[in-house]
Amino acid sequence: MPAIFNSFTTQIFENQIKDYFKAVGVFTFWKGRVALYTALKALNIGRGDAVMIAGYTCVVVPAAVKALQAKSIFVDIDARTYNINPELLDKSWQPNVKALIVQHTYGIPAEMKPIQAWARQKNIPIIEDCCHSFGSFYEGQLLGTFGEAAFFSTQWSKPFTTGLGGILVVHSEELAQSVTELLAQIEAPSTLQAALLFGQYLVYKSLVYPRTYALAMLLYHKLSENGLLIGSSENSELQGEQPEDYFKKMSNMQAWIGKHEFRKLKKVNQHRSQLADFYCRELPEYGFKPVPLRKGEEVGFLRYPVQVKNKTELLKLAAQKGVEIGSWFECPLHPIESDLSAFGYHAGDCPVAEKAASEVINLPTHNRVSLRQAERILKFLSRYAAAA
Ligand SMILES: *Cc1c(COP(=O)(O)O)cnc(C)c1O
Repeated sequence: MPAIFNSFTTQIFENQIKDYFKAVGVFTFWKGRVALYTALKALNIGRGDAVMIAGYTCVVVPAAVKALQAKSIFVDIDARTYNINPELLDKSWQPNVKALIVQHTYGIPAEMKPIQAWARQKNIPIIEDCCHSFGSFYEGQLLGTFGEAAFFSTQWSKPFTTGLGGILVVHSEELAQSVTELLAQIEAPSTLQAALLFGQYLVYKSLVYPRTYALAMLLYHKLSENGLLIGSSENSELQGEQPEDYFKKMSNMQAWIGKHEFRKLKKVNQHRSQLADFYCRELPEYGFKPVPLRKGEEVGFLRYPVQVKNKTELLKLAAQKGVEIGSWFECPLHPIESDLSAFGYHAGDCPVAEKAASEVINLPTHNRVSLRQAERILKFLSRYAAAA
């Protein structure tokens, strides 16, 4: 094993993140969901407890709650932000609620002011789900600094990638202490797992371009379904079971990638803003609604959401024509294959989220998409998409 992949690398990476968020503690994991699971466990959440979550998320979020034998309470979203609707918090609350997870979907900030005020009054800790956001601001304050803790994913499709990976940023001494104790029991991934992932990362960096996006995603899912790749989720996990080797730290190899990718974040975010500004300016000309932002919101869009009436056909056509259009979230607990009732979600629980899931597509902002390709994507929309 080359000497560059050692625990100093992980320390350097964690310190970079710690400085960025001026946090009390930063801890790194094999995946983002493990960072969340650790935070919930460190908050002593268990049987009989409940956690409030927006009903428009990745299924691995309620799965982390379920793994601790606690219950998820799904709160509907606000149609402007695609994030938890502060006006519904009181109605959804139950006396056994022990945490509130606040996600910033697509990088768009949730309405932190009323959410924070409500949580303070109820004395409920906030955990921010920043898997879509690394460098967005709400009223001038960096997302990831509003709660007791925030977690991040560095999986392929996220603000910056280490292949797979998760980061937990902690803002209280007490919680940092509990997380440190939990970490003493947890393993690093095997060298083989880490090396396989590193190989995948190299292939990903060299192969996935907009024109091959749909094909690459299909291949990736097929190969990982058959156990030939390290995929994001096993099928059983999507059905509500916790995999055996779930609770793992980040490998030093992932941290090594992270240390490098993190240094490029500012430039990557500038590119994201440039493309988002372009979409925002041009979409109305084609009859689509841009995302209305508020004063003080500075958004590093991970993907740019657009509402359409013919989502299913449009995605099929985009794949055929080699145009990169994304589809998360396809249902309140993404991806579509999950059995939502296994997580306590029932059809109709979050009608605004369900409507968004059936209508919202998203446009890429990452740095493998140039302004010219973004233009091509808009041309495709103007031709084939029906504005909602
Ligand atoms: C990707 C994602 C996660 C989980 O991240 P993993 O690293 O795949 O575990 C959680 N929440 C949201 C909103 C995500 O997009």
